[in-house]
Amino acid sequence: MTAPETLHRIPVRPWRWLPWLLISQLLVALLWWRLGWMWGLPALLLSHTLFIVPVFLPNSRFYAPVVSRAPGQDVWLTIDDGPSAETLAVLDLLDQHDAKATFFMVGERAQARPELVHEVLRRGHDLGNHSHSHPQARFWALGPAQMAQEIGQCQQALAAIAGAPPRWYRSVVGMTNPFVAAALKRHALARIGWSARGYDGVDCTPEGVVARIAPDLEPGAIVLLHEGAAHGHNLAIIEAVLQQLQTRGLRARLPQPTA
Ligand SMILES: [Zn+2]
Repeated sequence: MTAPETLHRIPVRPWRWLPWLLISQLLVALLWWRLGWMWGLPALLLSHTLFIVPVFLPNSRFYAPVVSRAPGQDVWLTIDDGPSAETLAVLDLLDQHDAKATFFMVGERAQARPELVHEVLRRGHDLGNHSHSHPQARFWALGPAQMAQEIGQCQQALAAIAGAPPRWYRSVVGMTNPFVAAALKRHALARIGWSARGYDGVDCTPEGVVARIAPDLEPGAIVLLHEGAAHGHNLAIIEAVLQQLQTRGLRARLPQPTA
């Protein structure tokens, strides 16, 4: 079993990518100067691709450490995008199945419904930081100041309501750009990815989502779920996933608190 201490992986050197970026661009300039654009241009494009692709890989460690497996034999349920009009129903489902989950909340939504944050905690669940305003179209491209604000304001909002800041962070749409790690270090946040997801996007059906997620429901899975989506299927999906866990004899538990 992984020691709980290793689960809370706060970035140690959030700018470690910067020298590599500078070195790569110097090499591109050197290549262009010595061999011309036919070598320089492809090298430029390749070097930029190497630094851009990891932003869109939810479990990439390129810009920040990420936890994508839970310790031990239990499953770690994570529910993103709340609080919402569905939060109380989600809590009832979790109670019915004796399951615990981490709710990755959006700061603005928590400020609008603080009573739901309290209820989540009262029923023995945990909170995580999922940005302050959930700017999903441009989250990947936020600059250092905007990123610090998105993560910092959510942290402040949740700490003010809950009485203690969260320890977990999840990137919006799983995108982690070069400026996320500095904010995680400042707020002692560990980034959490996932190993099981059903792609419950706009056009999903509950059956399709559960069929995609089911093969990955195994000991140590981190399961990505959502609440409050416009398609209205989130509760059906959560209920079906909880039933699947029960059928397989898997328990949904929170990772042990760390010091
Ligand atoms: Zn989200």
